[in-house]
Amino acid sequence: MADESYDYLIVGAGFAGSVLAERLAADANKRVLLIDRRSHIGGNAYDYYNDDGILIHQYGPHIFHTNAKRIIDYLSKFTEWRPYEHRVLAHVDGQLVPIPINLSTLNQLYQLEMTPEEAEQFLVARAEPVAEIKTSEDVVINQVGRELYEKFFRGYTTKQWGLDPSQLDKSVTSRVPTRTNDDDRYFIDEYQQMPLHGYTAMFNKMLDHPNIDIMLNVDYREIRDSIKHGHLIFTGPVDEYFDYCFGKLPYRSLEFRHLTIDQPQFQPVAVVNYPDQQVEHTRITEYKYLTGQTHPKTAITYEIPQAEGDPYYPVPRPENTELYRRYQALAENTPNVTFVGRLATYKYYNMDQVVGQALATYQRLMEAKNSPTLIAEMH
Ligand SMILES: Cc1cc2nc3c(=O)[nH]c(=O)nc-3n(C[C@H](O)[C@H](O)[C@H](O)COP(=O)(O)OP(=O)(O)OC[C@H]3O[C@@H](n4cnc5c(N)ncnc54)[C@H](O)[C@@H]3O)c2cc1C
Repeated sequence: MADESYDYLIVGAGFAGSVLAERLAADANKRVLLIDRRSHIGGNAYDYYNDDGILIHQYGPHIFHTNAKRIIDYLSKFTEWRPYEHRVLAHVDGQLVPIPINLSTLNQLYQLEMTPEEAEQFLVARAEPVAEIKTSEDVVINQVGRELYEKFFRGYTTKQWGLDPSQLDKSVTSRVPTRTNDDDRYFIDEYQQMPLHGYTAMFNKMLDHPNIDIMLNVDYREIRDSIKHGHLIFTGPVDEYFDYCFGKLPYRSLEFRHLTIDQPQFQPVAVVNYPDQQVEHTRITEYKYLTGQTHPKTAITYEIPQAEGDPYYPVPRPENTELYRRYQALAENTPNVTFVGRLATYKYYNMDQVVGQALATYQRLMEAKNSPTLIAEMH
């Protein structure tokens, strides 16, 4: 392998690296080496059949949703789909109620029979307007008031981030919608569907091309001097690439506790959230809802947030954004290397956004190749 020469070396076989490998190999006829330090392709979207034959997601539930038809069109070359609309319940005051908060949540929790108009009034009466919304706490209290904030958000967010919502940027909770109708879908995107045979099967098809070689269980640092290659595409952590020269970018990690239960069903929906601070897990996922698999047993995963471990969520605080900006400036001035994906840009992205980012990066690489001015700019 070391004797071979590649047009592109791609570090990381998640969505970012795999989409770029596929485009460069199949569309631009380039020779690509794709490496990952994990033992599998697919990055965090990796799924597999456990010892009991149930398809599970190793790194927690990955639900595909997008408004971009072009992303669906692109991925549809590698998979068929099954329709799936995600629904989540929260365990609050001893009941299971829909989250995001909707009409049923309020009626169930307060034993009322409100109409949507009454529910709107109910929330307006409870909301505590905050003059300048800065933190995650401000966002929720401003929208639904302190009581619902304490029941649904405070414990969950504190467990998830290891920080009180009053210390977290407003972006963390500004994504949480509140509804006064009966819509109990977690996402409202136009396309909500799961790869019919799972993510790993989709990645296998995407990467099945004679121009693509794959090396697993290998870190970039181990091979960077021995593989002859042209352009480098790096989808790993940007601070790691630069040897943490400005310090470590903080991430929140998770422990995934996977179990098989000897009964066909465990809970009424795919995901149940546990905002209560008395229990350490934030949520439990039951995969058969996502995959549509029928099986006499069922597989679930407890998610327990951790300070240390694999980097999963960039911690959204202004000082971290500031630190990332310094790495970003270095990255932009590193010739012949393109940084793409969630770890390389220190930003939480959904899968469809990473696919979009990778496709746009491919376009830019191709345009730069055909334009000397752009090449200079990219460097
Ligand atoms: C718990 C959790 C749940 C999520 N749920 C959803 C969801 O429901 N819907 C959704 O749309 N998105 C979800 N996401 C986001 C989704 O995981 C990301 O959008 C997607 O994985 C990003 O792809 P990526 O290629 O940028 O990164 P990754 O998938 O992380 O891939 C990067 C790869 O690079 C490899 N790598 C890093 N450094 C090196 C190195 N030095 N050498 C070799 N290899 C290296 C890593 O091993 C990894 O496999 C979730 C994320 C998490 C953490």
